[in-house]
Amino acid sequence: MIILTAGSVKASPKITYSLSFEEAQAHYIDVEMSVDNIENKTVELHLPVWTPGSYLVREFSKSIEGFKAFDKSGKELKTEKTRKNIWKIYNDKSSDFKVKYRVYAFELTVRTCFVDVSHAYLNGSNIFMYINGMQELPSEIKIRPYKGWKKVSTSLENKSGDPFTLSSPNYDILADSPIEIGDHDVIDFTAQGIKHSVAMVGGGNYDKEKIVKDFTKIIDEETKVFGKNPCKNYTFIVHNVASGGGGLEHLNSTTVQALRFSYTTESSYNGFLGLIAHEYFHLWNVKRLRPVALGPFDYDNENYTRALWIAEGFTAFYDNLFVRRAGFYTPEKYLELVANEVSLVENSPGNKIQPLSESSFDAWIKYYRRNENSVNSTISYYDKGSIVGCMLNLEILHQTKGKQSLDDVLKYMYEEYYEKQKRGFTDEEMKAALEKIAGISLDEFYSKYINGTETIDYIKYFNYAGLKLTDHNATKNEAILGANTNTTNGKVLVTSVIAGTPAYQYGINVNDEIIAIDNIRADDAAKIIAMKKPGDKINVLVTRDGMIRTIEVVLDKNKNVKYALQKIEKPTEEQEAVYKAWIR
Ligand SMILES: [Zn+2]
Repeated sequence: MIILTAGSVKASPKITYSLSFEEAQAHYIDVEMSVDNIENKTVELHLPVWTPGSYLVREFSKSIEGFKAFDKSGKELKTEKTRKNIWKIYNDKSSDFKVKYRVYAFELTVRTCFVDVSHAYLNGSNIFMYINGMQELPSEIKIRPYKGWKKVSTSLENKSGDPFTLSSPNYDILADSPIEIGDHDVIDFTAQGIKHSVAMVGGGNYDKEKIVKDFTKIIDEETKVFGKNPCKNYTFIVHNVASGGGGLEHLNSTTVQALRFSYTTESSYNGFLGLIAHEYFHLWNVKRLRPVALGPFDYDNENYTRALWIAEGFTAFYDNLFVRRAGFYTPEKYLELVANEVSLVENSPGNKIQPLSESSFDAWIKYYRRNENSVNSTISYYDKGSIVGCMLNLEILHQTKGKQSLDDVLKYMYEEYYEKQKRGFTDEEMKAALEKIAGISLDEFYSKYINGTETIDYIKYFNYAGLKLTDHNATKNEAILGANTNTTNGKVLVTSVIAGTPAYQYGINVNDEIIAIDNIRADDAAKIIAMKKPGDKINVLVTRDGMIRTIEVVLDKNKNVKYALQKIEKPTEEQEAVYKAWIR
């Protein structure tokens, strides 16, 4: 016989975050974090320094104010801040405690938080602290909305039926589930048997029925690649803004920024669908099928990986391809976008300086910290990664006569590493999978194009699909200066100087104000250069740090490429098969 006495059954630890917005007009979130049934006498609370998917240490703790801890009776506890993002709490008498702090939230980007009287957008990594070593604990989130806020859009579970009470099974999911609160438009629909919800924040000229129809097409195409969709529900938070852009992927949701009135013109709407396709594809590629370094996360430090060209680059390759597969782009338009991307990469001097794997590794200090010289020293793992994904897809299609593609590599990797082994993949494992499906060694491909900076043999790869790459600039004999400018308050200011151009060689500097070229006001700089020929001399009058000087420059031929892709006249059956399997 067992006699249970009071106290013999231990209550499980419980974390409750209560959020209120009494000073929404001043952009404050008041956070109260209650912790019950924790045995530790001292605990460390951490706030992440970065948010997964956006590889920059952003120091979210800079927005924390008035941190205080209390015991069960309400008596203030001793606390000590031990690192920029760590608070230590000394709790001698009782196992329960409560902390209170405020978060200043006035940055409307997909990776930060924003509060005003109309709505709140919350990223968990920015506001929720976790007990170090206890990230596995579940938590409850109670929201006290500001007046007029009626809806909550998030992928967090709402067990009670009260939309303002949410729960999370662990910290990783809490940090990875943004929350939108306000009186926004909500579009619910089912696709692939899964409940999807779109929160449209900030108005805009979108058509609800079209959104449902078109999102469904994208979701169907993407699910086809893996043959399964692992989400129980999925939330799109769309911030419609006057200026901005981009998106951030999460496990069961995404936040994107779209231009408020971009829904009615075909090209901008297709661009928006490309962004949706990109973020949605991440629910497989990155959020589940992921490089080893990307989960479980170290929230205190940089998490280094050489594989962002797969995580982001492949996703960028697929985004427009899904828009094509769903029937929004014609084959011609799609090929135009591919050719534009090749031109973009080949016109970046940094493509010859920074290998793709290094671009990924240094994302924390370079890609996310661009400066005036970035174009000369770095290459985007999105743009180049997308091109590399395209080439690998063509290689596999060619080797398998159109029967297998990069789709099969991702499907295999998803099943093997996410589903079976339940872990991230190493660089070697991805290479081995690509080689297995292509049936050839990719040593040379990796050493030239991923770990090296050799120019990709585009002609060879596009020829696999019976496509010819032509440079529309090849026959032109245009002059180039090589200084990019921006006109601010009537001043023509140099924003970047491209390596290998006359501006670089003759010493035109970033921040120079170009006043005149050959005694003609610089407002018409582009027109003046367009009238010149390579080899012509010009006098550039600039202001630099308040001093005026004239710089003599000899113009050069514009060596920038402007590629187009066209079908060759008589493709072989094999080339046709590759083309069809790629473009459909
Ligand atoms: Zn992405």
